[in-house]
Amino acid sequence: MSESTVLAQNSGLDENALLARVQAPEGEGREILDAATREVIGRVPVQTIEDMDAAIARAKAAQPAWEALGHEKRSELLLKAADAIDANAEGLAHLLSREQGKPLNGPNARFEVGACSAWLRTNATTVLEPEVLVDDENLHAELVYKAAGVVGAISPWNWPLMISIWQIGPSLRMGNTVVLKPSGNTPLSVLAMVSVMNDVLPPDVLIAVSGRGETGSRLASHPDVAKVMFTGSTETGKKIIEASAGNLARLTLELGGNDAGIVLPGTDPAAIAQDLFWGAFINTGQTCAALKRLYVHDSIYEETVQALAEIAKNMPMGPGLDENNVLGPLQNKDQFDIVSRLVEDAKAHGGRVVAGGEAAPELGELFYRATIVADVTDGTAVVDEEQFGPVLPVIRYTDVDDAFARANAAEVGLGASVWSSDVDAARAAATRMQSGTVWINSHGGLHPMVPFGGTKSSGYGMEFGVEGLKSVAVPQVVSGPGRKG
Ligand code: NAD
Repeated sequence: MSESTVLAQNSGLDENALLARVQAPEGEGREILDAATREVIGRVPVQTIEDMDAAIARAKAAQPAWEALGHEKRSELLLKAADAIDANAEGLAHLLSREQGKPLNGPNARFEVGACSAWLRTNATTVLEPEVLVDDENLHAELVYKAAGVVGAISPWNWPLMISIWQIGPSLRMGNTVVLKPSGNTPLSVLAMVSVMNDVLPPDVLIAVSGRGETGSRLASHPDVAKVMFTGSTETGKKIIEASAGNLARLTLELGGNDAGIVLPGTDPAAIAQDLFWGAFINTGQTCAALKRLYVHDSIYEETVQALAEIAKNMPMGPGLDENNVLGPLQNKDQFDIVSRLVEDAKAHGGRVVAGGEAAPELGELFYRATIVADVTDGTAVVDEEQFGPVLPVIRYTDVDDAFARANAAEVGLGASVWSSDVDAARAAATRMQSGTVWINSHGGLHPMVPFGGTKSSGYGMEFGVEGLKSVAVPQVVSGPGRKG
């Protein structure tokens, strides 16, 4: 870390100063609660469809000059935006922790803010070269990538800052301007991050509009929006596809998942238990590509279940601002109710709860204990549905082919994992999984240069790396005379 970065971090805005920048005037807006304590954090402005239209018009007007700046200058400004996030990292992490619920420590709020600047730096420095398609005597043809125009970015509440950056970073890099609609559950931290980025970006290049779902659907259907980056549920994703029939917007859709993991016979449960746990319980399970169904071979089933239960029972859970905690509450009551329903249904269908299995009201209204359910199988709601919370069903299998068939039976296919002490065996089996990513002996790890995206009902389009830059650009073929002239 350079000296100037350290200085900048020390002079960053705290949570209250960030809030003061973005929240609605006294008596206006909608209250946002602390997910852990349910106290009011602040009030978010409730913007209208007219506000959305005005934002899109401003972004459209700003786009040609932003594109004309060129890659080098845009890259420089995006690196400054990454510095601005780093400078305010601690204030942003506190606001995020309170609003979303994720603890400061562990793979949570500080980790998320750090990922935002890391991703932005990679976006800023990744180069998308023209591709020479044909270069012979008669023809020189190249594929070049140009800005699409105005990108509409619509983000969810689970990783609100990081996912917003995944949408914003590549889009700005390629010369688009962006109108961002954060989730109504977690808007304040996103507005705060955009505000500090806008300290260094030119006006109207990045505009956040916080409104109800109708502002999101306006953004997706607006005739001046050329590309929509959407991350959220499969249900809302389908509405975005319908909207695109009107404006022909190009789409990247990162939708729901129900990721399976398969532990092959001969694997040492003790060696993988920690990684299995965090693959499932990162962000208290509220993660799109988290492990949500674990298939374990009969020969090591009970040992794996007990190892996971031991970790789950001992992992510190509580309000996020307490430095000791690494698991937090569910972000909202709807998600808390889904988790409660799935666990009760599992119990009613013979599920054996070996850890958790109930709410933790002494910690707060939305806390649910880290839960491991054994002896459930496909056809049970806790296995078939995305829990999006601190619950992992562990399913016994005897035949490896059958385990792959069951893992692949889901309509969704975001991530998957194969676990084995024999890495070659795991690698050989990996591509049998029907998913956008398959991890070996881990689950959910992402890298800004490694493309990420879903298959089946988990959506289409890829983010990150060079593929991610292409997906927010419009290809153009430049075709001319060859070497003969
Ligand atoms: P959601 O679909 O309810 O909301 C996502 C966003 O869409 C929000 O900003 C919301 O306000 C907006 N929205 C709602 N209705 C809209 C409409 N008609 N038109 C346009 N925008 C609209 O999803 P959520 O509950 O915030 O997020 C949880 C879901 O997201 C889970 O299913 C999870 O798996 C998925 N997810 C996927 C990924 C991924 O990368 N594939 C990442 C994170 C979350």
